[in-house]
Amino acid sequence: MTEVRPRRLGEGVDGARGQESMEVPRIEVPEWSDRLGVVAGITGRGGASLPFDLGLKSAQPVGAVMDRWEAFLGGFPGFTSFHLNFQVHGTRLRRAGPGDGWVLHHGFDGHLTDVPGTLLLVTVADCIPVFLATMDGRAVAVLHAGWRGVAGGILRVAAERMVAEFFCSVDNIVMHCGVGVCGMCYEVGSEVMSACGRTVVGPAPWYLDLRAVLAEQARVIGIGEISTSELCSAHDTTRFFSHRASRGRDGRMVAYIGILP
Ligand SMILES: [Zn+2]
Repeated sequence: MTEVRPRRLGEGVDGARGQESMEVPRIEVPEWSDRLGVVAGITGRGGASLPFDLGLKSAQPVGAVMDRWEAFLGGFPGFTSFHLNFQVHGTRLRRAGPGDGWVLHHGFDGHLTDVPGTLLLVTVADCIPVFLATMDGRAVAVLHAGWRGVAGGILRVAAERMVAEFFCSVDNIVMHCGVGVCGMCYEVGSEVMSACGRTVVGPAPWYLDLRAVLAEQARVIGIGEISTSELCSAHDTTRFFSHRASRGRDGRMVAYIGILP
């Protein structure tokens, strides 16, 4: 992924209080904007004294979190519709249609759309954000893939829905597995290894590379182009939030994808 120079947004999002301008840390999926006409990436921890936590259950004051959301969403000119979920580690996906405003859904772990100017969002901190787009940039999806979603086949669900609903062939789908926990940082139980199709060899500890499993699933499904970020949220805790490295105390990043309007 390539780093986007932090954006400085005018006089801040709350001019009435004279609040300082806010930098939005964004790391974009390389080339997708030019090649596919799609904006895709993830927010980072940022350099501010207060980290750029966008978590819906953040321990920080709700006003500060909402200020960050406002600054973040203001960085997508021309977009009119923003979709976010309370995620449940399942495999249900929601198709987002045209509309205005910021919408919070419940019970989904990803979305898909073919409507330009519609931004799809998932929150992550170690779980893998999976970005999907057709090669002509006509349709996109983003998934929140922890081990349960990976084991449950959320990638296959997404690919099948893109083929069925957007009339693309599966080999015309491009996939990128974004910033998340790497195989060296993700120690799991034998039941998790087995659920994700890994043979348990020898005594514990066992480590699982979720992005490697996703890439293998993508090859089996027939997805045409597969790439994987080398950035690890648990290795690089100065740039990213990590649920595991923080023992559950960290904030959340937001992964986003949308067809440019
Ligand atoms: Zn790591």
